[in-house]
Amino acid sequence: CGIVGYIGHRDAYPIVLNGLKRLEYRGYDSAGIAIYDGTDLKFSKTKGKVADLEAKLESEVSTNGTIAIGHTRWATHGVPNDVNSHPHFSNSGDLVIIHNGIIENYQPLKTELMNRGFTFQSDTDTEVLVNLIEDVKTKEKVKLGKAVQIALNQTIGAYAIAVFDRNKPNEIVVARLGSPLAIGVGENEFFIASDASPFIEFTKEAIYLEDGEMAVVRTHKDMKIRKIHDDSLVDPYIQELQM
Ligand code: GLU
Repeated sequence: CGIVGYIGHRDAYPIVLNGLKRLEYRGYDSAGIAIYDGTDLKFSKTKGKVADLEAKLESEVSTNGTIAIGHTRWATHGVPNDVNSHPHFSNSGDLVIIHNGIIENYQPLKTELMNRGFTFQSDTDTEVLVNLIEDVKTKEKVKLGKAVQIALNQTIGAYAIAVFDRNKPNEIVVARLGSPLAIGVGENEFFIASDASPFIEFTKEAIYLEDGEMAVVRTHKDMKIRKIHDDSLVDPYIQELQM
């Protein structure tokens, strides 16, 4: 299972797709990607290989866009099929998430959300998380980063996540607990991946999030890293990658 993301000025699709191929060694049963082209958020997901995703996506939609997040899934909740594959969307369709790991307490959270009118298409714990984030964001009237933080503080489990809001298309929120997440730092661009192999050809500067940390990555802005549980700021430690 793996995560790849890109936000910047380059064509995001080949970066994310090739990155997913480099993470194939981690094992997976399904793959998916969401691409933002400046207006539309396009996505495709499928049970099977990254090559299957590639064939499906390129025959269905244009792959233009400078922001994308991609995922390879190792199913834990819900069988491997197209619907359970990531990315998952919130009920409004605004938020999109990719997630590696397990939200252990997804069932009570799901019941609570269903009582509040949320509906679910998949059997995954991940779709519960993205709707919890949406619920928090609407109820508390907070920004995406804050909503992710509040939501994660209500979860038990493990995760590497990337979340994108089509109404705020200049940032990706990432967080890590128990599953690896690296951020590649370029010039007005960021790469996100389970390890540095998807982005090493583009930048030698990487930040490895520690467990319990989250970051909002934005183009043309410094990245802030915070502790999820107490909101304290963490000094980013940038590591020089060796070839
Ligand atoms: N628990 C999530 C699911 O079953 C994510 C699995 C993974 O790590 O890929 O969809």
